Amino acid sequence: VPAVDTQTVSGELRTADSVPILISININDPAEIDALDPATAGVGLMRSEFSVTSLADAANEERQVAIYRRVLEQAGEKPVIIRMLDIGGDKPLTGLEDMLILEPGLRGIRLLLARPEIARVQARALLRAAVYGKLSVMLPMVTFPEEIDRMREIFREEAERLGRRSLPHRMPPIGMMVEVPSAALMLDTFGSAAFFSFGTNDLTQYLAASARDDINVDAGKAAPAVLRLIAQAVKLAAGKPVSICGDMAGDPRYLSGLLAAGLRHFSVAPARRPAISSAIIGLNADGTKAAGE
Ligand code: PEP
Ligand code: MG
Repeated sequence: VPAVDTQTVSGELRTADSVPILISININDPAEIDALDPATAGVGLMRSEFSVTSLADAANEERQVAIYRRVLEQAGEKPVIIRMLDIGGDKPLTGLEDMLILEPGLRGIRLLLARPEIARVQARALLRAAVYGKLSVMLPMVTFPEEIDRMREIFREEAERLGRRSLPHRMPPIGMMVEVPSAALMLDTFGSAAFFSFGTNDLTQYLAASARDDINVDAGKAAPAVLRLIAQAVKLAAGKPVSICGDMAGDPRYLSGLLAAGLRHFSVAPARRPAISSAIIGLNADGTKAAGE
C-alpha cells in the first residue's frame, strides 16, 4: 500500500469498517509544530525536556511561557498535550547530573516532586500558556495515584499565586503517561487522571527488564507482552480518553494488535503519520485485515 495522505481535512480517519481513528503528532523540538497540518488531530505529546535542558531554563518562567504559547497558538483549535519535564534516565538536565547518577530511579514525576521548585515554575508557565490554546498537561513516569494528587495541588497553589499577581491563566486537564508496568496493571485506581497515554518505549524496557535500546534484548520479542498489558489496561480506563504516544504507535507492524487492544487515538512522529494512516484504512477496528487487502 503506498504511503498516501489519507486523512481528511478534519483530522479524522476511518478504518475499513468505518470506525473513526485520530492521529496526532509527537514533537520534541517545538519548531516541529510547523508539521501540524490540517490532516492531523493535534499534538499528542510534546516532550518539554527537549526545550528545557538546564537548571537555568527550568527556573525561567517567561521563557517557558513563550515556548508553550507559540506551540498552542500555532495549533489553534487543535488540542495540544504538553508533558511535564521527564528528566532522568536517558534525559539529563544540565546542573542535575550528579543527583541523577546517584539515584537512577529519580525520573519524571518523581524528580519533579523531589525538586518542587522546578515543578512550580513549569506549572505556572503551563497555567499561563493555557490561555492561548487547547492545552492538556501530561505527567511522565507516574507510578502511584498520590503523585497525580500532589502535582494537582501544586497546580492549584500556583494558580492562586498567579491570581494574586493578576496574571491570566487557566487550569488545564491533567493526565498521565502509562509507561510504568505497575501503573498499567492498576489503571482503575488512577481516578484523578483526566486521560491516559501509553508510553511503549518505557513500558517495553521495564517489562523486559532491559535498558532502552539494550542490544541484549530484542524489543520486538517483548511486543506481545506489551500488547497484552495495554489490552488489559484499556479495559481499566473507565471510559476516560486513552491514546498511545510511544514508538509502537508509529510502527505499522503493531497497528493490528493496538487496534485489537481497543486503541483509537495514535500519536506518532510527524514522519510516521502517512504510513500509519495508509495502514489504518486497510484494517478493521478489531485489527483484522479488510476484505480484499
Ligand atoms: C514512551 O516511553 O513511550 C514515551 C513516549 O516517552 P519517552 O519516549 O519520552 O520516554
Ligand atoms: Mg517514556
